Amino acid sequence: MSNKVELPKTGTSYGQVFEQLEKAHSGDTRWSDGRVFSLVYHAGDEHTEFLKKVYTLYFHENGLNPGAFPSLKKYEAEVCSMVAHLFQGETAAGTMTSGGSESIMMAVKTYRDWAFATKGIKTPEVIMPSTVHPAFDKAAHYFGVKAIKVPIDQHQRADLVATKAAINENTILIVGSAPQYPHGVMDPIEGLAALAKAHGCGMHVDACVGGFMLPFLKANGQDIPAFDFSVPGVTSISADLHKYGFAAKGASIVLYRDQDLRRYQFFVSKDWPGGMFASPSMTGTRPGGSIAAAWATLNYFGLEGYKKLYGELFSTTQKFQKGVTELGFKIVGNPIGTLFAFESGSTGASIFVIADLLEKKGWYVDRQMNPDSIHLTVTPAHAAAFERYVADLKEARDYAKDHPELAKEGMAAMYGMCATIPDPTMVHQFLYQYMDQRYETS
Ligand SMILES: *Cc1c(COP(=O)(O)O)cnc(C)c1O
Repeated sequence: MSNKVELPKTGTSYGQVFEQLEKAHSGDTRWSDGRVFSLVYHAGDEHTEFLKKVYTLYFHENGLNPGAFPSLKKYEAEVCSMVAHLFQGETAAGTMTSGGSESIMMAVKTYRDWAFATKGIKTPEVIMPSTVHPAFDKAAHYFGVKAIKVPIDQHQRADLVATKAAINENTILIVGSAPQYPHGVMDPIEGLAALAKAHGCGMHVDACVGGFMLPFLKANGQDIPAFDFSVPGVTSISADLHKYGFAAKGASIVLYRDQDLRRYQFFVSKDWPGGMFASPSMTGTRPGGSIAAAWATLNYFGLEGYKKLYGELFSTTQKFQKGVTELGFKIVGNPIGTLFAFESGSTGASIFVIADLLEKKGWYVDRQMNPDSIHLTVTPAHAAAFERYVADLKEARDYAKDHPELAKEGMAAMYGMCATIPDPTMVHQFLYQYMDQRYETS
């Protein structure tokens, strides 16, 4: 049973409440030291101060109804236009959303409604590789669409043969990632898009993590396979401004090849006594700060700014890849950009024991299964953390090799157990329990 926390009878001064916050905050993982490899995308203190200033300027403004705030309307329209151009979509049209998950949910809903209206499909199916972000499962679950998972090949890429075999008259959409999150590997976008085009269904490219990275790596001369609207058959793209776009949180974009397709995303209602209502996406109230900060960030960096940032970020990533490889770890698949995963390789140590040891040293570690690995999303905060990370990783590797019994403790034990439980519903039960515990106040 959790302790009951009640609304305090009387208030506390701003100063005292803030003190409490600062104290609690100081116990969280220090992302600014590069101790977190996901969740936070930090392009430096100066940039963060700029974002705060912009966000604060629009702190109370609401993007729900641009009538009152024409400046927000301008920013959102211009963000959509700039990103459409970046993705070579001459006729592309989109909306901003609160994040990658909302962009993905909107895309799945859009294709569901499109397929029903134009083809009368009542039992829609979406085909996706097993590495796709869970937001697609979530969207399918929320919107009554069937998620068809297809296996990946030995390089962690969507399998074209398996995808083709899964297509049927209910297929409304094929999904590919550019790149996928777990290993930073590109799906064969052109191949998937060709299948979609041949079948006459949609093809969504999930560039949530890669959309604001790949174009700039390419501009720096790297060999990046086409993933955007230049590929025939690609009909929509999602890309997160609040990740590798380095905007403030609460900002993503979903773009469709044309306005006609986007139309299926919108919701309108004329009958409400509260007035005529028209909403682009899932949320009602939309924080003006995220929209303004996204616009401000794109204008601050520009093409040249992002190119420079990604030149540096890519060389930091290469350093990390070299560092972990030299310690005997193996990089999973062939990652394209600034995120990747590594498995134990020739180290002879359990990667999950190593993860536990790294956490004791103050790193926040992202553990993955299939294959068992540690995930790194490299950001500018990590350049200065490299030496310390590699030194700690080496120490953890050596200690883990000498202490295999640690696999029976901590998170390593839990991951080991989950891998051996044959019944997935048991793991689901465990995850539901975890969610309940999350809301306990003790
Ligand atoms: C992060 C991510 C998402 C989900 O985005 P949120 O902003 O966390 O909702 C979807 N797809 C990929 C590839 C991602 O990396």
